[in-house]
Amino acid sequence: MIEKGHTINVLDYGFVRYIDHMGTDERICEAARISYRAPSKGKEQDQKLLNYLWKNKHTSPFEMVKLTLNIKMPIFVMRQYVRHRCQNLNEVSARYTELPSEFYIPTVWRKQDDKNKQGSIYAQDWGCSSPELGDISINDMNTQLLRQHCENSYKLYQNFLDNGVAREMARIVLPINIYTEIYACWDMKNLLHFITLRDDDHAQFEIQQYGKVIKSICKELFPMTMNAYEKYKWKLIEE
Ligand SMILES: Cc1cc2nc3c(=O)[nH]c(=O)nc-3n(C[C@H](O)[C@H](O)[C@H](O)COP(=O)(O)OP(=O)(O)OC[C@H]3O[C@@H](n4cnc5c(N)ncnc54)[C@H](O)[C@@H]3O)c2cc1C
Repeated sequence: MIEKGHTINVLDYGFVRYIDHMGTDERICEAARISYRAPSKGKEQDQKLLNYLWKNKHTSPFEMVKLTLNIKMPIFVMRQYVRHRCQNLNEVSARYTELPSEFYIPTVWRKQDDKNKQGSIYAQDWGCSSPELGDISINDMNTQLLRQHCENSYKLYQNFLDNGVAREMARIVLPINIYTEIYACWDMKNLLHFITLRDDDHAQFEIQQYGKVIKSICKELFPMTMNAYEKYKWKLIEE
């Protein structure tokens, strides 16, 4: 079992930290068995019940257990994450606090996918020549340009703050690859729905990394539920 506070790094400055949880695999079974007021007949039967429930989308017993996480992610990932409405969430306020200079800077750049309009693809040999940077791979050039852009934006942010501009206004110059941080509490039904959608090739690479790490934490805490989830993964309708 993982310890409270266990933290897994994601991307460059991000992380997912396990704060706390309520309930167990057995609690989900207990809740389901209230239907016919029967006690547990052991682990094997519990696993069978969980498989049956997930396979047949009897999802309400999975809402009986909760998981609280502390997550740090770039704001553009947060834009996707926050679309999942069935969670409880508090976020750091850039009106109260000055944001640190922590930006997601990828070192591998993906090309636009010409088949999937929302997708991207990896290009093996992305090399080029630039008047300012000489011969350089596109990967390295993009990374350097982005780093410069973030440094310039952050300098402007600090100039505004030094000149007395309110934090709530100064922040508008910051790019969306700056990090934000949240506390989020999920029930397992909705968290599994999140994992289904975001630990999936159709999701953007960056949020997929969060989906995978959150799934690994769920496997530690709710192993039988995650067996059922893996065995009877719901099919996604393509968006
Ligand atoms: C690959 C991918 C691409 C996407 N692209 C886009 C995009 O281009 N543009 C865009 O705007 N969004 C996009 N989304 C976001 C997507 O449309 C959903 O908003 C997001 O995935 C959250 O899903 P959800 O609504 O099922 O989850 P939640 O909001 O967590 O809701 C969980 C479930 O609760 C129920 N529920 C919640 N609220 C309501 C409600 N008001 N009425 C009825 N039932 C409700 C539904 O059954 C829902 O499935 C994308 C998502 C993915 C995974």
